[in-house]
Amino acid sequence: MKKIILSFCVFIILIFLIPAFFSRSFFSISLENVINETKNNIDENLNNISDYDYSQFSTIKLLHKSDESIEEIKLDEYLLGVVSAEMPASFEQEALNAQAVVARTYTLYSIKNSNKHEGADLCDSSSCCQAWISKENRLLKWDENLREENWKKIETAVYTTKGKVITYNGEIIDAFFHSNSGGITETPASVWGGTNYPYLQSVETAGEDAYSQYSSEIVINKEEFKNKILENHKDLVLNFDQENPLEIIEYTDSNRVKTIRIGNINLSGVELRTILGLKSTNFTFSIDGENIVFSVIGYGHGVGMSQTGADSMAKSGSNYEEIIKHFYTGVEIIDI
Ligand SMILES: [Zn+2]
Repeated sequence: MKKIILSFCVFIILIFLIPAFFSRSFFSISLENVINETKNNIDENLNNISDYDYSQFSTIKLLHKSDESIEEIKLDEYLLGVVSAEMPASFEQEALNAQAVVARTYTLYSIKNSNKHEGADLCDSSSCCQAWISKENRLLKWDENLREENWKKIETAVYTTKGKVITYNGEIIDAFFHSNSGGITETPASVWGGTNYPYLQSVETAGEDAYSQYSSEIVINKEEFKNKILENHKDLVLNFDQENPLEIIEYTDSNRVKTIRIGNINLSGVELRTILGLKSTNFTFSIDGENIVFSVIGYGHGVGMSQTGADSMAKSGSNYEEIIKHFYTGVEIIDI
């Protein structure tokens, strides 16, 4: 009896299930499901960066600050002008490569997220967007015997990293950079307020003290100093005969000046840097007769990649990916 039931079951399977298994619809539905599922997974991963199809940025609109003209320029040609304006060509090739990826990332981020300039994507000012210089003017500024070699390094940086950008959690990052961190980078909230970004942590880099951008000094007469502060703060009362007329009262986590008391008012380190034109907010001061001497470490806001730090790392054997991953925490470098 068992044999009969078993045979019957086998018969049913042969009649119905096997043809169904081999039928086109059975296969196509299963296959379609698998394909859709895979596609959804890929879409999910690429969703955040799908707006950044590299080909759609074949040209960018560049605002020239000198005459307010807007030039349409090919993206990679623009990047050649940025890298050669932002970083000395004498720097190591891997540092220049890192600068090219950072500049490309900064550019694409700005195109999507910044509305600084009407009718243009970015301008050519380093204090606003990124510095840029035409090839013609760049070559003229280099010694004749270095022109070919230097330009080749710039081209290598841009073309060997073509299409590479930095992402965090699938999104293109806001790739801040500066000249010299003084050995430790700053978090963005300490400079501009607001919230910090997970990929812009404070990181330490060795070897930055070997560069001329590392230390600087500003000597300013007491009266001139007082007048400069008064221009911005009419309520200032400052008497140099009193004890501690100036006092640093708070530091950021990276040991830059967060707040300084000047007479009866408190100023942020960032504001004092702007007023006096200090190279960074990492400063100390001393009063020397009729003068105040500000001794400054590092150059720039200190957020993101330090250019001299990148060069120092490259000299120690790091490649551009290692440099980028050192300055931007937890990021990926992807092709778009
Ligand atoms: Zn700008």
